[in-house]
Amino acid sequence: MTQIALGECHPFEAAGRQFLYLVPSAAVFALDDTSAAVVETLRGGHLAAPDLYSRLAPRFDARVVEASLAELAGARAILPVDPAPVAAPPPEPAPNIIPLKPIPLSTLVVNVTNRCNLSCAYCYEYGEDKIAEPTAGGMPKLMSEETARESVEFMIERSGNSPVVRLTFFGGETLLNFAVLEKTIPYARRRAAEAGKRVEFSLTTNGTLLRPEVIEFLADNDVGVTISIDGPKEMQDKFRVFHDGRGSYDVVAPKVRELLKRHTSRPIGARVTLTSDVLDITRIYRHLREEVGFWEVGFAPVTTSPGRAHAIGETGFDSMLGQFRELAHEFLEAALAGRHHGFSNVRDTVEELHKGASKALPCGAGLGLMGVATNGDVALCHRFAGSDAHKLGTVQDGVDETSQEAFLDAHHIDRKTDCRTCWARPLCAGGCYHEAYTRYGTTQAPNLHYCEWIRGWTETCLEIYGEIAERNPAYLRRFDGGGTPEEGNDDAPETH
Ligand code: SF4
Ligand code: SF4
Repeated sequence: MTQIALGECHPFEAAGRQFLYLVPSAAVFALDDTSAAVVETLRGGHLAAPDLYSRLAPRFDARVVEASLAELAGARAILPVDPAPVAAPPPEPAPNIIPLKPIPLSTLVVNVTNRCNLSCAYCYEYGEDKIAEPTAGGMPKLMSEETARESVEFMIERSGNSPVVRLTFFGGETLLNFAVLEKTIPYARRRAAEAGKRVEFSLTTNGTLLRPEVIEFLADNDVGVTISIDGPKEMQDKFRVFHDGRGSYDVVAPKVRELLKRHTSRPIGARVTLTSDVLDITRIYRHLREEVGFWEVGFAPVTTSPGRAHAIGETGFDSMLGQFRELAHEFLEAALAGRHHGFSNVRDTVEELHKGASKALPCGAGLGLMGVATNGDVALCHRFAGSDAHKLGTVQDGVDETSQEAFLDAHHIDRKTDCRTCWARPLCAGGCYHEAYTRYGTTQAPNLHYCEWIRGWTETCLEIYGEIAERNPAYLRRFDGGGTPEEGNDDAPETH
């Protein structure tokens, strides 16, 4: 007799209610008492329908159970199974479906320089884990105006029918090439308008070169700004130092305050790199959000090979998760009261959950997002820009679509054995290629060193999402449709 089994799902509890995270569809499903009892019973193993009915009979009427089963089956939370399947070899992964040819570009990250005026010990571009010599093979230190214009043409041409395209400037220290940025923004705006499109501009900077005229320009041109900063003076000055070893906090902090005062049309965010030494997340958050005045603060653990002194170890990840949880609960309180809270890690994940994000690939790199090196070479993303091994083409001659598709196919979630059965895969999908390359020497490896942390954090975000959905669902409307000024960006580049 056919039996009933629980589909692939992750149960969790929020606001005193049971929920299921339905992994194949990435949907969040709230359970009533009957369906919660069905799920609880089936967690012990699959059952024939009569057995299930009889187990639930003392508590629920058969018609109520029947309705609940129909609803759960409709959501594919439960499935019919054959109790004695004939052993068969596991199916070959189905050919992966890669969307629209050529794959439209939504974000182009242009590394306008590979030079930096800081010398951060953990930097993936200059530190011990760099994947390419920034100026190897005659790579120019600064992108020329011409290459920047060619990058704009490349971006517009590859953006397909999309009415909006994002152009992000990156480095090295981006503002070392302010001259090119200043010329490229009006050019891109004009060329996009001619193509019937709009460009959203953003940049990441270490903040040291935010002179008054630069701030004016960024504000006047509505450029989104992310500042790479690690927190209060004693934390910022640990790693984020000038070449002579001087800390950068005293230079950066007043400039950032000026920026925040003058540039109010776009939310200004801080991105913090966490290391074994700089892990007091709550203190960092309070300083950057409440004392300096950033609109939002996001944290990312340093990308590094495991032996480095600044690499975060197991206890560090535990501490990170505990502090993330505390801030996530603060975020929840604010969301329930309809107030803003600036912890962007939880906001971004709640948005992904609300939108039902189900990733076949961990991020947009090589798909809707590409990075451009100073000579015009196109790579998977800004972190690989300048690496010949990860080159997809050039802005002048275009992208080799065969190798692009081969890359995407080889990195599909179905090719990652450990990830294929993981309940957190809709949001993680194996994690950052650059992290995997640094850690395991290949972009194809799943980032198994942080699974526990990812699952713990996803669980927390599910709980936060469930609480908001139950207690203040209106808050979630900001993630529907066109979004709000706080709107996140799935393939927004990491900071450095
Ligand atoms: S890397 Fe780990 S947490 Fe992420 S999808 Fe794979 S198995 Fe799951
Ligand atoms: S997640 Fe990693 S691979 Fe993807 S865009 Fe960001 S840095 Fe690049």
